[in-house]
Amino acid sequence: MTRSLPVSLRDIILASERISGRVRQTPIVRSDALSERVGAAVYLKLEHQQITGSFKLRGATNAVLSLSAAQKARGVVAASTGNHGRALAYAAKAEGSSATICMSRLVPENKVAEIRRLGANVRIIGRSQDDAQVEVDRLVQDDGMIAVPPFDDARVIAGQGSLGLEIFKDCPEAATVLVPLSGGGLAAGVAAALKAINPGIRLIGLTMERGAAMKASLDAGHPVAVEEEESLADSLGGGIGLDNRLTFSMCRDLLDDVVLLSEPEIAAGMHHAYCMEREVVEGAGAVGIAALLAGKIDVTGPVVAILSGRNVDMEQHRSVINGATASTGKDTA
Ligand SMILES: *Cc1c(COP(=O)(O)O)cnc(C)c1O
Repeated sequence: MTRSLPVSLRDIILASERISGRVRQTPIVRSDALSERVGAAVYLKLEHQQITGSFKLRGATNAVLSLSAAQKARGVVAASTGNHGRALAYAAKAEGSSATICMSRLVPENKVAEIRRLGANVRIIGRSQDDAQVEVDRLVQDDGMIAVPPFDDARVIAGQGSLGLEIFKDCPEAATVLVPLSGGGLAAGVAAALKAINPGIRLIGLTMERGAAMKASLDAGHPVAVEEEESLADSLGGGIGLDNRLTFSMCRDLLDDVVLLSEPEIAAGMHHAYCMEREVVEGAGAVGIAALLAGKIDVTGPVVAILSGRNVDMEQHRSVINGATASTGKDTA
């Protein structure tokens, strides 16, 4: 591909080499149940088995390893209660730096404890994610900490792209890759890697109907804010930033389509992952399976679905498995 992207295949190969040995190379397995269902080979990239429970460790580790010794000593900082916060906490500790994770007073105690357990300093501030972000900016300004954003950052995107290289290595025949989509760091990195190697491959972003900021932004032609709503795919919530620098244009240029999933469809994806594949997957990680089950993907050859995370509240998981919210999908009976 001759078009120049803010993150190149070379950046992704370097990131992949840098983080190798520090993150798990997760397996790709064939799903007989899904292959039979859609009439083509379906493979699952089991990235929910990554250390810390999501792919976010790839980008966070690459970002921390890209710092100078002086920067590492000053520490990294982010506002995230979810998978990015966990990943950055773990990566900073593993590389001898320190992470400060800012979160609002409304964040539940179990999430706070989880991030502390991974070795981060937790700073509780204000009553919203915006307040937490203001504190991040202050710590960068006043204390010289290094901000590591969850997606709109070239080091983070390159780290997530390493997952694309693994897909090509283990499944070079893939014709379509299904990528969970929120801020677009995962989709941008994976698409930049795979399309540079195989320009004919199809990349499809998957997200929930409820409050999908990237989809609304792509439709509008520029970053827009959307109202946040609760979803089973809670890791896909949040905006893309009205001042988005990288992921909006990369997703616009590299994704072939974006498909939206309803809550019952996401539940059916989680149910299938557990009952048919024997995997505990969070809602955001189950959207690829959900789209295949819902018949929303035009299957023209081998398909790879990325299972991106497993950090689901087990009480919620149980109720999904017991069918409390799963009302679609023929194999949920
Ligand atoms: C963060 C996350 C996503 C979305 O990644 P983006 O880079 O924000 O698009 C998908 N699945 C899981 C489990 C996540 O934690």
